[in-house]
Amino acid sequence: MRIDRVFRKLANTLPFMMAFVDNERRYQFVNERYEQFFDVKLDELKGKLVAEVLGERSYKRISQIHSRVLAGEDVSLREKVTLRNGRVLQLEVKYVPNQNQRTGKTNGFFAIINDVTHYASASEVLRAVHDVMNKQSVGLPTERINKLLKLGCEYLNTDIGIVSRVIDNEYTVKYAWSTGDPIPPGTQFELGNTYCSVTLAASDVIATRHASTSKEFSGHPCYTAFQLETYLGLPIRINGKVWGTLNFSSKTSRGTPFTDLDKELMGLLCSAIETLIINNSKTDRLERLAYTDFLTGLSNRLFINEFFERLVYQNRERLNHYYCVLVDIDHFKQLNDQFGHDAGDSVLQAVAIEFTDSLRSDDVCARVGGEEFMLLIHADDKVDIANIVERLRKNIENLKIEHDDEIITTTVSIGVTKLQEQDSFNLAYKRADKALYQSKSDGRNCCRWN
Ligand code: GH3
Ligand code: MG
Ligand code: MG
Repeated sequence: MRIDRVFRKLANTLPFMMAFVDNERRYQFVNERYEQFFDVKLDELKGKLVAEVLGERSYKRISQIHSRVLAGEDVSLREKVTLRNGRVLQLEVKYVPNQNQRTGKTNGFFAIINDVTHYASASEVLRAVHDVMNKQSVGLPTERINKLLKLGCEYLNTDIGIVSRVIDNEYTVKYAWSTGDPIPPGTQFELGNTYCSVTLAASDVIATRHASTSKEFSGHPCYTAFQLETYLGLPIRINGKVWGTLNFSSKTSRGTPFTDLDKELMGLLCSAIETLIINNSKTDRLERLAYTDFLTGLSNRLFINEFFERLVYQNRERLNHYYCVLVDIDHFKQLNDQFGHDAGDSVLQAVAIEFTDSLRSDDVCARVGGEEFMLLIHADDKVDIANIVERLRKNIENLKIEHDDEIITTTVSIGVTKLQEQDSFNLAYKRADKALYQSKSDGRNCCRWN
């Protein structure tokens, strides 16, 4: 009895969770840490079967392990558990069988439990940073920076990640990742209207999860404009000089405070981004060339393919707001034969200008084949897109292209398909191509849907 009391007292001073389960698999004891962490009381658990508490389904998985432990084996494992409130945790559990001193028989086991959720996700960040920086396959610097922003958001549990360029009082979004509406690169703010002004003034990592009540952030114009409660920002330095900021934010308040580990990890992420920015400035020109069609100055197939992948990567649901429009010049071979290849080139250029003039900032257009173009157009609905496409068709029909002393006219056939959430680039392309084929067989200079 006395020993029991001493044992309890000791167990309650332990910095980790502990439970004792008897050989009938019933809880006999849990320490205070355990009670606090799982929000249960020893009185509620005592005498109850583990299977009953965890639920038969979840217990099924660890039942075999308990059998091994009750047979006298020490077992350590790391487990992912989902709490009733939906929180997913990583637990490190060490099982130690307990023998009856007299009989030598196992009369139950201790489970020693540590919550390693934070360390586990931290090591995931480390591994991912390493992958992004070292794997050739991850892509161009821009793509890598976007990946790191997404990673930071997931780790910190924030909605927005931005790399900004700051020059004097001008804050320009260079790269952004967001769980909601995308923040297009090039968006500008006055530095003073962003929390990054605080970060840059402090010249250090700054974080808050309650901006509205924090000393540094309350009353800040950024709060008034965007109601961002959660913010973590760091200065980005290139060649020793402040270049911009890396920042993560959310309208909602973050559940738990930022830890030193969080700040350290974001520091690491920031260094990786600094390296990528340096590489990016070197590859900028090459990247532009690799993505541009030489004759028309439009994007090429590689670019539009990657644009599509980015939409998927950022948020598959966004595909639902896009239409894939495939445009092919009619009887182009004949036109080349009649007026010459140069005239053909002029027609391609004139048509390309027509596209760029009519596109909006969310849209892209690429030359995907000799006289074939693909547009990904963001539109509200079928009527909206039908109007856009019909206008394009008509404008092209009305073009008077001057070449040498000739006035050349041309027409296009169009195939349209609405993108779907589960689409791949190739799938959408195939559907649009089928529609295009239909408009060709329906006499050209028209648009068909699929
Ligand atoms: P359809 O109405 O069925 O599309 O007939 P089409 O003649 O337009 O299609 P086809 O695929 O038979 O011919 C396409 C032509 O486009 C053949 C090729 O010589 C020409 N072409 C491809 N690239 C270029 C280019 O960069 N410049 C010029 N001038 N012509 C090109
Ligand atoms: Mg053609
Ligand atoms: Mg063609």
